[in-house]
Amino acid sequence: ENQTNQLFFTSESEEVTFFADLILPIPVPKLFTYRLPRGMAQLVKIGARVIVPFGKNNGRVLTAIVAKLHTSPPSGYQARYITELLDEYPVVNSYQLELFRWMADYYMCCIGDVMNVALPSGLKISSQSKVQFNPDFDYPELLTDFEETLLAELKKHPALSYEELGRLVGQGGNVPALIKSLVGKKAVIVFEEVKEKYVPKMVRKVRLHRNYEEKEQLLVLLQRLEKIPKQQEVVMRYLRHVPIQHNPELNQKGLDKTILNQDDEISQSSLSTLIKNQVFETFEIIQPRFSDNSPATQAEIKLTEAQRTASQQIMAQFESQNVVLLHGITGSGKTEVYIDLIQQALAGGSQVLYLLPEIALTTQIVVRLQRVFGDKMGIYHSKFSDNERVEVWKGVVSGQYQFVVGVRSAVFLPFDNLGLVIVDEEHETSYKQHDPAPRYHARDVAIMLAHWQQAKVLLGSATPSLETYYQAKQGRYGLVELFQRFGNATLPQIVLVDTKQEKRQKTMKNEFSSILLEALENNLERKEQSILFQNRRGYSPYMQCEDCDWTAECPNCAVSLTYHQRDAELRCHYCGHKEHVPRLCPTCGSTKVKTIGFGTEKLEDQLQIFFPASRVLRMDLDTTRAKNAYQQIIQEFEAGQVDMLVGTQMITKGLDFDNVSLVGIFDADRLIHFPDFRATERSFQMITQVSGRAGRRAGRQGTVLIQTSNPQQTILQKIIENDYKGLYEEEIQERENFNYPPFSRLIKLTVRHTDKAISHQAAERLAAELTDALGGSRVLGPEEPLVERIRNQFLFDILIKIERDKVNVKAVKAYIQDRINDILTDKGLRQVSIVADVDCL
Ligand code: ADP
Ligand code: ZN
Ligand code: ZN
Repeated sequence: ENQTNQLFFTSESEEVTFFADLILPIPVPKLFTYRLPRGMAQLVKIGARVIVPFGKNNGRVLTAIVAKLHTSPPSGYQARYITELLDEYPVVNSYQLELFRWMADYYMCCIGDVMNVALPSGLKISSQSKVQFNPDFDYPELLTDFEETLLAELKKHPALSYEELGRLVGQGGNVPALIKSLVGKKAVIVFEEVKEKYVPKMVRKVRLHRNYEEKEQLLVLLQRLEKIPKQQEVVMRYLRHVPIQHNPELNQKGLDKTILNQDDEISQSSLSTLIKNQVFETFEIIQPRFSDNSPATQAEIKLTEAQRTASQQIMAQFESQNVVLLHGITGSGKTEVYIDLIQQALAGGSQVLYLLPEIALTTQIVVRLQRVFGDKMGIYHSKFSDNERVEVWKGVVSGQYQFVVGVRSAVFLPFDNLGLVIVDEEHETSYKQHDPAPRYHARDVAIMLAHWQQAKVLLGSATPSLETYYQAKQGRYGLVELFQRFGNATLPQIVLVDTKQEKRQKTMKNEFSSILLEALENNLERKEQSILFQNRRGYSPYMQCEDCDWTAECPNCAVSLTYHQRDAELRCHYCGHKEHVPRLCPTCGSTKVKTIGFGTEKLEDQLQIFFPASRVLRMDLDTTRAKNAYQQIIQEFEAGQVDMLVGTQMITKGLDFDNVSLVGIFDADRLIHFPDFRATERSFQMITQVSGRAGRRAGRQGTVLIQTSNPQQTILQKIIENDYKGLYEEEIQERENFNYPPFSRLIKLTVRHTDKAISHQAAERLAAELTDALGGSRVLGPEEPLVERIRNQFLFDILIKIERDKVNVKAVKAYIQDRINDILTDKGLRQVSIVADVDCL
């Protein structure tokens, strides 16, 4: 690539026509060749963004990325010109381009899909069609009445997008037709508005010249300035804000220029002189947004003996391994170990990426990290605004953020010098993106990224995924164990509560066993907090008529509607459909319409009834939609204003509270018997993780109560004994017997169509063709998934198992893609959609 760039820089001749192969943010599996206008060849670099026309009549304007520069014209069509070059420097570096290509290949999607997800939309400047009143318009007699009123409205605005216009026109109006008519009558002008280019907010800072950082030189300087008191005062003022006498490193961060020359002009001219004399130097950085300038307090962390050993073992294993698994029980202080390793990597001058599952990010861990790393650390989070994301992106490029903590999409940031990648809670399924493409697993992508940049990867978990643990067992990854809770705290005692028995004895109160209620009561008396886990939101998952068995179902999906009491609504959790709660059964008119089953909302309600004096909070998707809702709940709970916290799997991740001594788990059976080959692994992980929230401080052991109708189940015994290895041995045997991951790779193909027969036909054909080529044992299905209709599309799944060593995975994927393309271009199967999910979970 460098060579190509060279060619373009040295070429003075405009005789040659230059072309660029571009990545366009659209789902077409190829690069697009465009011509460079005169003069652009000397400026353009691979990885820079350009603006190009696209589509019929050049009707669209797209932001593209330059992937390749060359001089061979495309065959078969006339290349169009690039309209504009947006960047002087590449926005996407060569590692990222490699990543894009790899992901498109590996995850069977288009490189444009990858670009789309990778770039924050602030970097994908796109244009928007807008409509404007034509000031030269003079045929009012041609207008219809409606057009006339609309035009009067339009005059009030500088320009309107189609969307805004649609709102003016109201429902039922045909905006495109209307615009066409108005354009024909020359009443309006349509134009493309290109959104503003992104310009980060910069702050000008000053710092002492390096020569004066050391104490002796500083003293010499101050003495020298004795005779120029105004200048001396400016230096003193600087030192009051930035006490480099005590810590010379502070100087590197400098001080906002505005602080130094606050109010008086005297200091302003003195400062200018000092800068001219090279006592001070100025520099610019991108304004950090999240750190509210909290300086690193450098709260010296002291690792415990066990943590230090773990950290040393990890470093030692990195000598020979690229990936190491830290298997550390809940509350063992894995974060402290990470911090230690991060500091070492940063001291060595390399970049660090720390991945966390979505929800854990907004909380306590970030505060802990910030205390140590201050504004050296960037945060990349999906609830951040687009501008905030762009700033982190630019901060990584500029070197301001050597260290980023982020969610899965942080793997797309423009790192070029990674030394360490940490994937915390590596077993978390939220690392896998389901929709849209690329359907990538951030942990696996992180391992590739690290591989290219020769960085090390640390995977951490109390309950590693079987895939990862298997790799460690095989010796492909290193393995370090940390089986001691911090500060002499012990793992909680786990007790199984037999709900069948309690039902027989009629001691259950609704969903609550007497044992759980008593424990909650005791906890309230001791002023200790409790966490209650039910992995289902809403009030109840079903509404049914007692007389005729009618159940409320979604009109668009094959699922029952969930009753949400707070909003008096029935809702579909798949498509978002909402309806009112019927007072009478819509089928037979009976009044006996009742709810069946329970979700977090019902538990919250009941707790409030059982313990009216206590304060209960709920944390699930419904209560955390607002940007800061999650933090709010955590803060209130942390501050002890709340006695009980009810929640879905959101409360299982990474939370660290001092005063929680009881965890109650509902409906364990439903988790365990979920129809999926990973159900056992999943329930072990989920229950162990939520249990790990209890008794994290020394002094009193926590208690976990699991309500189940079958306490004999072996998995529950394994959970009680915290027997991860036992679980692993049993599960891995099963996986081997049935050739499931990690012994094979899975690719799930989902076929969709609004007509069930067509969907089925396409799926049958695809499965048959694949079976012919791959053999029956490698192809399962087509099968209707658990929810066989979503948004009025009928689904069929085909599952492909590819053994790791026996098959050429690349060739198989190419073959599958070919078969899919055949079907998609078959006229008889119009509008079938087929989605490939590689390494599906
Ligand atoms: P894990 O992620 O392994 O579940 P955490 O990293 O959250 O555990 O640590 C559990 C708690 O113990 C946290 O509150 C943390 O601040 C505290 N802790 C762990 N190690 C140390 C240490 N070396 N010094 C002080 N506090 C520690
Ligand atoms: Zn009925
Ligand atoms: Zn639905």
